[in-house]
Amino acid sequence: MNIVCLDLEGVLVPEIWIDFAALTGIDALSATTRDVADYDELMRMRIETLAAHKLGLPDIQAVIDRMAPLDGARAFLDTLRTRYQVIILSDTFYEFAWPLMRQLNWPTLFCHRLETRDDGRIIGYQLRMTDHKRAAVEALRGLNFSVVAAGDSYNDTSMLTAAGQGIFFHAPDNVTTAFPQFPVTRDYSALAAAIDEGFAQA
Ligand SMILES: [Mg+2]
Repeated sequence: MNIVCLDLEGVLVPEIWIDFAALTGIDALSATTRDVADYDELMRMRIETLAAHKLGLPDIQAVIDRMAPLDGARAFLDTLRTRYQVIILSDTFYEFAWPLMRQLNWPTLFCHRLETRDDGRIIGYQLRMTDHKRAAVEALRGLNFSVVAAGDSYNDTSMLTAAGQGIFFHAPDNVTTAFPQFPVTRDYSALAAAIDEGFAQA
């Protein structure tokens, strides 16, 4: 039995924080782990910035509702799900991803949670566990599933390594160069072909 594990941002949808910053015009929210290496510091800054702009969860979800999946993502995923079971493994938060999951026809998503007050204000976040992408792939393989995984960034490489076959999709050159063992794909038809090949070899 075969399961495909996919990263979300950069593979099926845009980078949510960067799109959010562009849609709201709040430049500070375009910072990523490339700008602020400490993830907790980055999240604290984001939460304070949202509070300073009086943006609660309903406002944030209304903005995210204006985002769209990447071109062709919905069709790619719909077809893939007729052939394999698919689990999306992401470091985003359910509260952010929900409007995009609707547009992707509600695929299975494993990610993290935000802590919000009743008035919608975000007060913190809860990582379900660290390195959960790798742990999920290892657990699935422990259940005797063959796993092929695809992602676009450093935070995917432990998951790609744990899978029977890892694949890069739209990954920057510095990432693909550091991990030359994974095939590189740049469009959905190449990704679909690499997934099939990954299972054929597993
Ligand atoms: Mg990504």
